[in-house]
Amino acid sequence: MSTQVFIGIGANLGDASATVAQAIAALGQLPDTHLVAQSSLFGSAPVDSSGDDYVNAVAELETTLSATALLQHLQAVELAHGRERPYRNAPRTLDLDLLLYGSHVIVNDDLQVPHPRMTERAFVLLPLLQLAKDIHIPGKGQAQDFVAAVADQRIQELSTD
Ligand code: AMP
Repeated sequence: MSTQVFIGIGANLGDASATVAQAIAALGQLPDTHLVAQSSLFGSAPVDSSGDDYVNAVAELETTLSATALLQHLQAVELAHGRERPYRNAPRTLDLDLLLYGSHVIVNDDLQVPHPRMTERAFVLLPLLQLAKDIHIPGKGQAQDFVAAVADQRIQELSTD
């Protein structure tokens, strides 16, 4: 049985748009995983971070990987893009967050799903809703009901040409 999964992608160092595009391609190459859809790229002001604007996107996957195995793959993709963590919330080459794993609620030392801050971030909600406007966030509610509260966060859809 495969599970519908949404991954949040962010980058703000180097050629961030290229990094996000490469990350989406890498997600499509993961074992036992199929890339279903990808949002537009968005540009957003850093939240709890510093440096240039971020480039963000959300990818929808179908996978038979467990959530833990998927997280390990996400961390390997981050590392492959040379992510460094000199300090908490430092600018990052690539950040991959497991936003939703089907309708599962997962809380353990390594993983919290739904991602605990996803409802507070326009750069997650807007691309997610582009892919799945009726998506429900387990334990929280409809994703679209959180949009009004993040309306003050600067974000724009990046043109594709
Ligand atoms: P960050 O530096 O914000 O990318 O956080 C990475 C850390 O968050 C890792 O140690 C993960 O184990 C942990 N983590 C907890 N929940 C999640 C999630 N849903 N997606 C990605 N990382 C998570």
